Amino acid sequence: KLDERLARISSQINQMKDADNKTYGLTLTYGVYVVVNHEHKVESMIERANLARGNVVSTHRVVLGVYDEKARKKLNRERELELKMERALEQREFVPYLQPKYELRGNRIAGAEALVRWFDPVEGMVLPGEFIPLFEKNGFIVKLDLYMFEEVCKLVHRWSMAGCSLVPISVNLSRGDFNVPNFFEAYKDLIKKYDVPVGTIEFEFTESLLYNNLDILNDLARQIHELGFSCSIDDFGSGYSSLNMLKNVRVDVLKLDRVFFSGEDEGVRGKEVIRSVLNLAKALELKTVSEGIELKEQVDFLREMKCDYVQGFIFAKPMDIKSFEKLAYLHIVP
Ligand code: C2E
Ligand code: MG
Ligand code: MG
Repeated sequence: KLDERLARISSQINQMKDADNKTYGLTLTYGVYVVVNHEHKVESMIERANLARGNVVSTHRVVLGVYDEKARKKLNRERELELKMERALEQREFVPYLQPKYELRGNRIAGAEALVRWFDPVEGMVLPGEFIPLFEKNGFIVKLDLYMFEEVCKLVHRWSMAGCSLVPISVNLSRGDFNVPNFFEAYKDLIKKYDVPVGTIEFEFTESLLYNNLDILNDLARQIHELGFSCSIDDFGSGYSSLNMLKNVRVDVLKLDRVFFSGEDEGVRGKEVIRSVLNLAKALELKTVSEGIELKEQVDFLREMKCDYVQGFIFAKPMDIKSFEKLAYLHIVP
């Protein structure tokens, strides 16, 4: 009924003629806020209707957006995070956590992934799922990734000085980084600055980067290899991948996304898919990491299938630096 009423308004307005007796042919866009609480101020109702207008869908007669409380909350939350992100970075509220990767053959820690955590003085720990998508939208991810990388360089440097036998630490790169021309130069500078030993860092490219960026990605992989480091495809299988692209991308490691191991695919068919991907990776001389592993049966199956590494809660959750040092370097670090 609402869209009928709005359609009527549109058609009435479109019956108006200009000086040459022609109609204007206007398309009107409506924002709808259904008043549920009469206590609200009219201004705030209008504001909500205006907000709804930014989120339009077209029914066959009118273009309208309806106010959505959830969308509004999300937007407010994003504004709130944006207001404090720069300061948070200065105040060192972003902290790397490390999640160990286990080698299935040798049953040992063979590496770890650096995952960012935001320690807000009021809210406490905030998980990346809440802010990474926003930072990817607003570009702040470029600064954050470089900051995280520097933190990891410092750690590796410290461990190396302490005489630990180092395992590679992987860091995440995102789409946004690739929008900055020559963004990798800053990374190279940090590698030099902290004298990072070769082989101790791995760069993770998210799978969505494969799409349309193959030349750029391969050029970066070449630079990474020249420095003596390795790189991987992260979240493989989560959405954008094309098996065909795998043959052209010069990475060292394939990380199978959690989706392979969750949901109803657990049956025979699911296992066949995992088996095939692992074999394909092997044929292409890629090492394999299975992510998000929570069950013992999954580990047994993956060991049988000769998957190289597992990163999952079954072995260890992401942990703070101190805990990781205890686990991996047995108190060597003072
Ligand atoms: P990711 O790179 O795929 O990292 C793995 C995620 O899976 C982590 O979530 C980890 O905690 C989670 N995980 C690992 N094992 C298990 C398991 O057994 N069960 C379950 N349920 N989850 C498991 P986290 O730390 O919340 O990070 C989420 C995503 O945020 C990361 O996914 C990555 O895409 C992004 N991210 C985190 N830190 C950074 C960063 O410094 N820079 C960038 N660009 N992205 C980051
Ligand atoms: Mg990752
Ligand atoms: Mg992943």
